[in-house]
Amino acid sequence: MAPSSIAILGGGLTGLSAAFHLSRRFPAAQITLLNKDIHFGGWVHSRRAKITLKDGRETSVLLEAGPRTLRPNSKSVLELINLLDLSPFLLTVPKSSPAARNRFLHLPGTKGLLCIPSSPLSILTSGLSPKSSSLHSPLGHILLSAVAREPFRLWNRPLMIEDESVDEFLSRRFGSEFARIFGSALVHGIYAADSRELSVRAAFPSLWDAEERGRGSLVTGLLRPSRASATAEVNDLPYQLGDVDEQMRGVSVYSFSQGIGALVDALLRELRTRRNVRLVGGVSATGLRMNPRTAQFEITTSSCETLRATHTVSAVPLPSLKGLLSPKTPLPHLTANPYSSVTVVNLVFLASPGHVLHPVGFGYLVPRASSRHAENAILGCVFDSSSMSTQEAPWSADIVKMTAMLREPVASIARLVDMLSEQLGVRLPDPLVVRVHDNAHCIPLLRVGHLQRMQELSEVLQGEPWSSKLEVIGAGVGGVSVGDCVEAGRRAGRNWA
Ligand SMILES: Cc1cc2nc3c(=O)[nH]c(=O)nc-3n(C[C@H](O)[C@H](O)[C@H](O)COP(=O)(O)OP(=O)(O)OC[C@H]3O[C@@H](n4cnc5c(N)ncnc54)[C@H](O)[C@@H]3O)c2cc1C
Repeated sequence: MAPSSIAILGGGLTGLSAAFHLSRRFPAAQITLLNKDIHFGGWVHSRRAKITLKDGRETSVLLEAGPRTLRPNSKSVLELINLLDLSPFLLTVPKSSPAARNRFLHLPGTKGLLCIPSSPLSILTSGLSPKSSSLHSPLGHILLSAVAREPFRLWNRPLMIEDESVDEFLSRRFGSEFARIFGSALVHGIYAADSRELSVRAAFPSLWDAEERGRGSLVTGLLRPSRASATAEVNDLPYQLGDVDEQMRGVSVYSFSQGIGALVDALLRELRTRRNVRLVGGVSATGLRMNPRTAQFEITTSSCETLRATHTVSAVPLPSLKGLLSPKTPLPHLTANPYSSVTVVNLVFLASPGHVLHPVGFGYLVPRASSRHAENAILGCVFDSSSMSTQEAPWSADIVKMTAMLREPVASIARLVDMLSEQLGVRLPDPLVVRVHDNAHCIPLLRVGHLQRMQELSEVLQGEPWSSKLEVIGAGVGGVSVGDCVEAGRRAGRNWA
């Protein structure tokens, strides 16, 4: 039966996307979205800070505490851009630009940055060019030998295993040095977590599938087109992309002139015009149960009300959902994954002619150290001035903006600036603006076996008392990227008549 009333718990991107799509699909249903914080958007925080330039002119810089750039591979986000008329505010970074191509690593215990060759082909071609920096970088040698040997390694996935860590997977195919340096750095950049704990199937399903397509060789598999994704497109509800897909041709990453917050603001603007949607900020759900007599959900709230709904979408972190349930009707695996904490520090410097603070490029990541005591507090640093310089237009040339990600709160800004200077190999001046955001428990670490556990959760939700009327979605279920979250919201309630 089609829902007549829907409760959505959580107003991060997952919950907002669910509200947007459900209100279109079920225009006759009354939808109420509860969000614990007054601020909607969850971890998305885009703010401008006022600054005074050297010549006394006043302007502002855009600072992101959460997500800052998106990849165009998520069609559900492109669809929102089209449906919410966000195209005029898009800022794109072409794949061919140095800001997209140049990515760096800082190896713990060394000074300065090493350039990562942008593709296996570029390692080979850089080998032909005496001027290339990647030729002389040890990274080029590690990459080249790992990638060149991989197709000759026999199928070595142990029999009967259904999942393994990213580190185990990459070590099997490319060797442990490759896995420690490249795999751990990638996982630091996306999950702020340890690649030895993260599930390869949950985090990088395309790698697992490519190994199968390549009959054991990941490199061979990656070079073969995937039939599965083509079939999924045909069978699925088509995306309404307008010409946004076209605009994204050749784009590496994108954002908006007012940052990722533009997506949240546009969703809120649109939802506020919908008669069947009520957005309630600053009120949290405190309990959730299905009343067997009325076959309705009863949601108690921090404002001492009881919200009743025929259907419910939970888009809150899984441990929060656990706290809402009665011990009589538990759901499995809600606390199986820990959450990583990340301290994000925005730094803005005044530019000085001749004093280059970082190379042109996307930024750098710091891999896991070879010994525990050499571990670095800094996970990586994004060069916003290179990758999203147009957010500060027309004053982009007057400032240098970068964002450091740390695994622990900052003890002292002076110490942080020293550490960054050492990693960049350049003495940084005193920053003009510093904003520190301690994002506690912000990114779920999808542990090995995650997909199996989520399958079990889904089966329980199909049975009594939930009867598929409760959907559990969000970063801790279907993937942490903004694209994953928006897609999960788009799919919510697909089977509700
Ligand atoms: C620092 C950082 C950088 C990131 N960078 C990127 C990036 O560059 N690109 C990218 O694609 N992804 C990035 N991500 C990941 C992505 O931003 C998140 O995974 C995504 O925003 C999570 O959305 P969500 O709605 O599932 O959860 P959340 O954002 O956690 O939202 C959950 C919401 O639920 C509410 N809530 C909690 N409990 C209750 C309750 N009991 N009742 C009612 N409401 C409740 C909260 O107030 C919150 O608004 C980043 C994440 C972080 C933290």
